[in-house]
Amino acid sequence: MHIDGKYILIDAGLGARWTTDELDLLDFERPRRMLKNLNALGLRAEDIDIVIFSHLHYDHSGGALVQVGKTLALLFTNAVYYVQRRELEYALNPDPAHIHDYQQKDVNTLLSSGQMRIIDGDCEIANDVKVFLTGGHSPGHQVVIAQLPGGEVFYPGDIISVKQHLDLQTTMVYDMDRARVLSERRKWLSAASLAGWRMILCHAYRNPVLNFSKYSIN
Ligand SMILES: [Zn+2]
Repeated sequence: MHIDGKYILIDAGLGARWTTDELDLLDFERPRRMLKNLNALGLRAEDIDIVIFSHLHYDHSGGALVQVGKTLALLFTNAVYYVQRRELEYALNPDPAHIHDYQQKDVNTLLSSGQMRIIDGDCEIANDVKVFLTGGHSPGHQVVIAQLPGGEVFYPGDIISVKQHLDLQTTMVYDMDRARVLSERRKWLSAASLAGWRMILCHAYRNPVLNFSKYSIN
């Protein structure tokens, strides 16, 4: 997004540091589009001013880092990176059951860069860009609402990440607090429906942007 003179990226994807075997194991397709799509917009990684992490699971934050020789470095060298405090604290010390959802060295590299901005709860990141703490999927998961020239855009992160989540039953094995995911989903689907927001489905392979007013809640 380009808002108020700032280029803002929400989540950075999985990144390109994975072998084919690892991707097969994780059941992800090879990531390839983020930088290509930025380049198609005439942007380079260093042009990004702000990165907002919905949460720090490696498939949302790994793309913010790049391997340079033996060193892990930030890809968006000039950006500040926003994350909720409780997400960062959990990512640094996850329960054993969730240890594989985070990459410790990625989180440590982000933290030691001095470019992280740690926030507590709902917050305005920039003019017309607001984040709301939801928890549920992970302790510090947040969603984003941005006011763009074409209207509001809602990024629900992993609270609603594929079209199958447009109901109030379906949750993911990665969701830490299923009841919380469903109550947050109910709240945000209802707001999106009332206002007719455009919504971004971050794990949809096709048609990631949908006009929510076309859908109904089951
Ligand atoms: Zn996640």
